[in-house]
Amino acid sequence: MAQPDNQSKRFFESLSGAGKSIAVLTSGGDAQGMNAAVRAVVRMGIYVGAKVYFIREGYQGMVDGGEENIKEASWESVSSMLQMGGTVIGSARCKEFRCHEGRLKAAHNLVQRGITNLCVIGGDGSLTGANLFREEWSGLLEELVQQGLIDEDAVQKYSALHIVGMVGSIDNDFCGTDMTIGTDSALHRIIEVVDAIMTTAQSHQRTFVLEVMGRHCGYLALVSALACGADWVLIPEMPPEDGWEEKMCQKLSANRAGMKRLNIIIVAEGAIDCNNKPITTDHVKDLVVRCLGFDTRVTILGHVQRGGTPSAFDRILASRMGVEAVIALLETTANTPACVVSLCGNQAVRLPLMECVQMTQEVQKAMDEKKFEEAVKLRGRSFENNLKTYKLLAHRKLESELPHSNFNIAVLNVGAPAAGMNAAVRSAVRVGISEGHKMFAVNDGFEGFYKGQIKEVKWADVGGWTGQGGSLLGTKRTLPAKHVEKIAEQMRAHNINALLVIGGFETCDRIKQSASGTKRRVFIIETMGGYCGYLASVGGLAAGADAAYIYEEPFDIRDLQSNVEHLTEKMKGAIQRGLVLRNENSNENYTTDFIYQLYSEEGRGVFDCRKNVLGHMQQGGAPSPFDRNFGTKISAKAMLWLTKKMNETFRQGRVFANTEDTCCLLGMRRRALVFQPVVQLKDETDFVHRIPKEQWWLKLRPLMKILAKYKTSYDVSDSGQLEHVVRNIQPKESDPSGAM
Ligand code: ADP
Repeated sequence: MAQPDNQSKRFFESLSGAGKSIAVLTSGGDAQGMNAAVRAVVRMGIYVGAKVYFIREGYQGMVDGGEENIKEASWESVSSMLQMGGTVIGSARCKEFRCHEGRLKAAHNLVQRGITNLCVIGGDGSLTGANLFREEWSGLLEELVQQGLIDEDAVQKYSALHIVGMVGSIDNDFCGTDMTIGTDSALHRIIEVVDAIMTTAQSHQRTFVLEVMGRHCGYLALVSALACGADWVLIPEMPPEDGWEEKMCQKLSANRAGMKRLNIIIVAEGAIDCNNKPITTDHVKDLVVRCLGFDTRVTILGHVQRGGTPSAFDRILASRMGVEAVIALLETTANTPACVVSLCGNQAVRLPLMECVQMTQEVQKAMDEKKFEEAVKLRGRSFENNLKTYKLLAHRKLESELPHSNFNIAVLNVGAPAAGMNAAVRSAVRVGISEGHKMFAVNDGFEGFYKGQIKEVKWADVGGWTGQGGSLLGTKRTLPAKHVEKIAEQMRAHNINALLVIGGFETCDRIKQSASGTKRRVFIIETMGGYCGYLASVGGLAAGADAAYIYEEPFDIRDLQSNVEHLTEKMKGAIQRGLVLRNENSNENYTTDFIYQLYSEEGRGVFDCRKNVLGHMQQGGAPSPFDRNFGTKISAKAMLWLTKKMNETFRQGRVFANTEDTCCLLGMRRRALVFQPVVQLKDETDFVHRIPKEQWWLKLRPLMKILAKYKTSYDVSDSGQLEHVVRNIQPKESDPSGAM
């Protein structure tokens, strides 16, 4: 269970920002989640005893200076910011900062306030500017002395400027981080629009040409194409070959003939052909109308993609990055190069800023030089895999082109329904067919299996499955043990060589909350998850909860008491809203009702309480882009692996499945997706509570506590944040919207 590890506890206790001044700014294009990053920097900064300043309007505020532009932040000043889109402290493009004079003014404004630590949240332009500023710093101070604006003492005292970058950009166009702040929210917006368009297009048999953002990077287009099963996608990194117009039209008309009532074509803003000539949505539309006569409409999403509330993922990402940025600043010495904090798999890491910027710029260079394969490679492994998966799924081979493996594979869902399961089944079926296998679908999990509810599925049977919630195959919690004989019989009868089982102990990834806006009220929310406190903890981080009670981290009456006291104190101040999450099985006696009653009684006269058991709502609804992609990619990977394993173990007409690695669980571990033999997982699993014995996300819990409470103590360690070595830049290994 989650016991604080003493080494990291000591590390956190040793952190001190006393006497330091940190400034935070957002620059360049805005992105959802920037506010969460600002909030985290402010609160973590104050937590370690530093002074924190906001700089408004990006570099413009730094150049202009003045009370309003550079203002000290308080704990309360970032309250209720977490759920807001855009950037509350303003962002701008600033010409003056590009010139030496502008940077000189900026340096003067910082020195006057004793600020030598800077957190810059922006794109590669903003980070390049930050790095330049840092390199010039001592020269700028000398100039200020010569102009009589500062004295030699100030030069000594403020001799080095420390910089940490966080990448805020909806395009996910930065090398070195799996996801940039804002990308996941932008994907949410795109998928909401695609889902809405699909219903109208369905009614009229239409073709929709959709332009999404990404002047230089096709990430948003590619991933939304994967998430909605688009017919065609055009991105700058992979210009279509000559003659693509004809091919695209052929594909659209083949899809129509296959009973598909609508077509979706996604075009990245910066899409080009292989001669670097832009491909516009109008060009695509004219083509479809001219060649096929289809009713075709163009939708340009534009700024909608930057709007709306940040997704849970972006809030968590930005909060983690903000905390890590402050730790990085405290550890920086005059000789450490500027770094960006970023995400690798599920870990926070630090990378050298300029190397990342250079690599990002090289992608553009490669595209300009028409070295498209190189551009895709430079984007990283995750991008490459997105592309590979898209190609695997989008291009339906003709019957005559298909290989014939003579293998039969069955797919089934088990356990609770979870958003994304259908995307996983669709991907398995299609990849399986492309690999030459015969695919079978089992209804109602192992129960349906032993009862013989199994039949062959074809490519078209799973059309449109990515966006649908629940489990279209049907799923049951029935365990196979009692029915093994009958299941074996079914496997023999259908000659099944391999099984793909999609499900888990407790799977659900949907949590909605609205608790802001009301005064002096504490919301007590019960989340699902069986004994697994993931949803309560990570949901708590995303929603800015005051406490999250979970089974993995035992709590007693003293904890409850201190939480109630904390809330009572908080309600007397400027922040008059409380949020407490409780995982359904966190404690058999301290039930949601008990906690509700305790808080109601203790809060009498200060705040009132409301409780809400989220229940099955958490499992419902349309899957998020993350789940669609994750389902799609993980399943494609599983099918390719099954193909390989079956070929390896095929002898005398039979598949031999007698080694450990013929029964594996595919999942994300630290930075990569790995196939783990189930036998090996036995020791790592708590079967009674249906959870792993070690849960990686426990390290996120202290962050939630620190960001929610003033003067809390670091009672639990965050081992993930301990990775404070500056790592060499690596290609992207995975991204959360479908790591591979
Ligand atoms: P993004 O950060 O989103 O890539 P921009 O490229 O527009 O956006 O950069 C935002 C701001 O960062 C610019 O307006 C400018 O103030 C500053 N900046 C960008 N590049 C540089 C540079 N090479 N030198 C100095 N400042 C820069």
